[in-house]
Amino acid sequence: MYRDGLCASIYYVWMVNIKLIAREWNILIPYIDYGLCEGCGACAEVFPDLFEMRGEKAWVINAGSFDQEKHPDIVQVCPFGAITLG
Ligand code: SF4
Repeated sequence: MYRDGLCASIYYVWMVNIKLIAREWNILIPYIDYGLCEGCGACAEVFPDLFEMRGEKAWVINAGSFDQEKHPDIVQVCPFGAITLG
């Protein structure tokens, strides 16, 4: 339980930094809202180069490799609306 909380905190800080860099460079990258993610694994199954399951939640991996043409429907793949682009 503590480990999951620590990992989520580290991930959050990492994603905030990535978000700032993406904003600075004017690029879009995918984000996961952990208040909405139910851990179904659909994102990791459809886009294994961008998401992987860690415990009960999905993580964005290789966010910098996101390409809207190469990864269409990335937002729609999540049945819980947890994935956004920003
Ligand atoms: S598809 Fe959505 S709910 Fe399912 S693991 Fe991915 S982010 Fe979480």
